[in-house]
Amino acid sequence: MAETSAAAASALFEQAYGGSQAGLWAAPGRVNLIGEHVDYNAGLVLPIALPQRAYAAARPRADRLVRFASAGLPGVAEVDLDDIAPGRPADWSRYPAGVFWALRRAGHDVGGLDLAFASDVPIGAGLSSSAAIEGAAGAAVSDLFGLGLLADDASRAELARLCQRAENEIALAPTGGMDQAAALRCQAGHALNLDCRDGAVAQIPFDAAAAGLVLLVIDTKSAHALGDGGYGARRADCEQAVRELGLHSLREIAPDELGAAVANLSNDRLRRRVRHVVTEIERVRRSVVALRAGDFALLGELFDLSHASLRDDYEVSCPELNTAQEAALAGGAIGARMTGGGFGGSAIALIEAAAAGAVEDAVRAAFAAAGHARSPACLAAVPAGPAGRIA
Ligand code: ADP
Ligand code: MG
Repeated sequence: MAETSAAAASALFEQAYGGSQAGLWAAPGRVNLIGEHVDYNAGLVLPIALPQRAYAAARPRADRLVRFASAGLPGVAEVDLDDIAPGRPADWSRYPAGVFWALRRAGHDVGGLDLAFASDVPIGAGLSSSAAIEGAAGAAVSDLFGLGLLADDASRAELARLCQRAENEIALAPTGGMDQAAALRCQAGHALNLDCRDGAVAQIPFDAAAAGLVLLVIDTKSAHALGDGGYGARRADCEQAVRELGLHSLREIAPDELGAAVANLSNDRLRRRVRHVVTEIERVRRSVVALRAGDFALLGELFDLSHASLRDDYEVSCPELNTAQEAALAGGAIGARMTGGGFGGSAIALIEAAAAGAVEDAVRAAFAAAGHARSPACLAAVPAGPAGRIA
């Protein structure tokens, strides 16, 4: 699959622009083990990079144009470097175009470029296809214009921050920084324990296979219209709670202060939102301890608690995600939860390898029985490496 997308990016480059590419770069999608809706609350997250990647074939231009093609989409989008602005370009190319804008804003000298993408990260499945194309574009630009932003973790953190700016300010998607950090800073065989308060990371070994386990990603193939507005509304709830409590972020509330803190909030909805955020950050801490101890039973329990909190307190789950979670557990999973922003997208399940087939069957059967419109797609997630040059 990966080779196919790499070859597809190169083939599209030739077809769209003629001649040969100067190089080929790739950046991974990600799945978050735990720590949901906490990145914008200065919390802790724990994603792994996926083997599924967005590939970008690229070649510098002599002028100030950037052009973008993507396998499966018609035509070539183009924009002058000076015309990139909030909401411009209007189509999908605003994501990679935004990376050029953010780099220039940060004082980097970048010129025109032709780019051709092909990706095997499913789009809109909660596996971060958007940060994958940003990361692939950022990696290509950094190498072709000698910016050195892939050299070490500190410079990768800077590039991740700029990719997030691109998504927030040009693509106008108000996401936290987890996805871009995962695409650029994850290491193979490890989960990335990212502290969103200061960008500090710890690499936590994660080898499910060695423990006889599989981490199954269940793409529910559903996306609810509520999603976009719902994400903004949850952020607004957190901001209101922060104001009412006189804090800088919900991260400042220690687990044992939760009761006292929520007592000061003006309504029950905010109390439940804050309870999710504070307990979820604590679950990430406990998951790191569990991983370091090889205690997958505890990790599974924390997955279940996270799902319940997202479903009941944060209210970002949906029928398809609940079906996936419940059916995975009923089919024998050690733990399962929705992952990503919610309102559709993917769930994850931690499963004894021998039971993986049975869990997949149970999930498919449950989707059919529930009458969900689409059948889910499953993939086994292995922690892969970060964005970089391929050829
Ligand atoms: P995800 O969870 O997959 O990141 P988002 O809504 O954040 O979902 O991003 C999906 C958007 O990113 C798409 O609607 C599209 O605009 C853009 N995108 C992602 N991958 C590609 C691609 N390979 N080609 C073109 N656009 C892409
Ligand atoms: Mg995204």
